[in-house]
Amino acid sequence: MTFHPTDISMREKHCGHAITLKQKGTKRSRDIFQTGIAAHAVLEDIGKAIKKNPDISLQDIKQIANDTAAILCSKGRAYDNIPEPPMKISQALEGMKLALKHIYANELDPEAEYEMPLAFNDKWEQVPYYDKTAVFRTLIDYLHIYKEIDEDGEESTIAIVKDYKTSWHITNDMLDNLQRRAQALVVYLAYPEIDVLVMQVQGLRNNKTIQRRIYTQPEYDTLQEWQNDISLAIKALLEPQIPNPGINCYNCPYANACQWTEEINPGDIVQKYAAFLTIVKQLEKDVRILTKEISATTPQGTVGYSQKERLTTQENALLTLWNVWKQQNGSVEDFLVHIKLNATNAKKLIRVLSQNGIDYDSLANQTITKQQYSQFGISKANTTVQTKDDNTKTTVQKST
Ligand code: SF4
Repeated sequence: MTFHPTDISMREKHCGHAITLKQKGTKRSRDIFQTGIAAHAVLEDIGKAIKKNPDISLQDIKQIANDTAAILCSKGRAYDNIPEPPMKISQALEGMKLALKHIYANELDPEAEYEMPLAFNDKWEQVPYYDKTAVFRTLIDYLHIYKEIDEDGEESTIAIVKDYKTSWHITNDMLDNLQRRAQALVVYLAYPEIDVLVMQVQGLRNNKTIQRRIYTQPEYDTLQEWQNDISLAIKALLEPQIPNPGINCYNCPYANACQWTEEINPGDIVQKYAAFLTIVKQLEKDVRILTKEISATTPQGTVGYSQKERLTTQENALLTLWNVWKQQNGSVEDFLVHIKLNATNAKKLIRVLSQNGIDYDSLANQTITKQQYSQFGISKANTTVQTKDDNTKTTVQKST
């Protein structure tokens, strides 16, 4: 059996039975991954084309992006030789746009490798990616190895190891999670001549890059420790996996197909809530698609879309209110207080301003802050699984 770094993470976040279901080829909820998959596929195809022809035209780059997106939503792709169904057109297009946006802002180096396959046997010897003895394998999004000579004339071998992310939230803990450690380790094992590993996480939505340098000789013990940790995790994955339903099931991609969610003690409403919330979320996506054109009607009722009415502002509302406010001698400050700029709108404004060269982080630091608040939700041990910070709400700072 061969494992990816994501298998180890999945066992940590959910339970070992999720790995068993994955190995059986059980259908999983993939919606949240598809845009990222499309962006990676487009970057890979363009990267490989740039390697063949560094002078490739922008027109050709766009054509490659289009072709890749078209294949993803018509035929689908294969991951580790296992075919996957086509994704939605909207997901392929969004991924394609993110990849192109990244390429416009960051040149892809013709010397780099794209989606570089690396695999190892149980003795940590490198083997071909699909070798029968491979127990651990991964694809490196971007790997560029080059020589650098410092001011003293000393030559070093540098490796830039990039991981592309489609999340808006690029946080420093991404530089020291299991996936990043595994990437650092396998690149070093494949290329032991590397002196410095520059581990980068690159946000495709916000063009934010964070990085960490690992000096392989002084930090050899750390790499060795990571190797031992991953060996132990692989050993654990090779054992029969025991289901552990409950809060673990929250956001598990196999929740809808897993019979163990039914086994939760009916009286344990907290554990049931966590598991069934995930099933409901996964089912809702499918039911929404199913009922998009025609609602599902039964004698008991209807499930689907129905027409409702809600209040909304008219196009000229802000200007009209401002004019009336001024006529009544209201101040700009008071008007702004009543408008109540929230953090989301502030971020939108800053994003627009950042397109004119204003530094996003600097302006965000001046205007947005965190505020404690209480929110109902599920927080799993060692992993934050809510979409918003647990108890910390982002708010707009008052100007002084
Ligand atoms: S749904 Fe729950 S029990 Fe089933 S695989 Fe996922 S985490 Fe494990």
